[in-house]
Amino acid sequence: MAEPGAWDRFPWWSVLAANLPSLLVAGVGAVLLARVTLWLVTPYLVYVAWAEARVLWGSCRDCSYFGGRCAFGKGWLAALLLKRGDPRRFARRKVRWVQLLPDFVIYAIPIAAGIVVLSRRSSILVLVLTIVLGIVSLAGTPLVRGSLACRYCKQRAIGCPAERLFSGKRGQTRPVRARQPYR
Ligand code: SF4
Repeated sequence: MAEPGAWDRFPWWSVLAANLPSLLVAGVGAVLLARVTLWLVTPYLVYVAWAEARVLWGSCRDCSYFGGRCAFGKGWLAALLLKRGDPRRFARRKVRWVQLLPDFVIYAIPIAAGIVVLSRRSSILVLVLTIVLGIVSLAGTPLVRGSLACRYCKQRAIGCPAERLFSGKRGQTRPVRARQPYR
């Protein structure tokens, strides 16, 4: 199969699609936590914001999309909030599964909350939301990365430790052909 090309600038529709699973998880997660107690909602959303800021600081400021429109729109956001970092540092970084634990917490805490609620009382709404959250957590992000974000990302050609981890590759990433930017 031919190697898909890279996008210098991701189209808006794909930025929206790429962020949909995360927005869904945060929204459904907040609703599930509210079923336990409303006091958990604000700390949870602050935690989600912190996890996003961690990515902006740790990755996006060094990414080749800094100041541009990457798959998740964060290159543009990073340039609004931070100074450009070092692009060479991006490719040199080593990413391990344990470093992604703070991201897994975003899914795991609301799923645990849903299970706790269901153990106390039956609720169709909580059951459906917990299942939706589980499906989106397991399938949504990998689907977005594999079919949209990483697939057309030019940083993948330069070198992306996260993509290598997700795809199970150990060596260098394969080069991709440059594509005309979307407008
Ligand atoms: S290859 Fe994937 S994980 Fe790496 S910067 Fe691009 S979209 Fe992000």
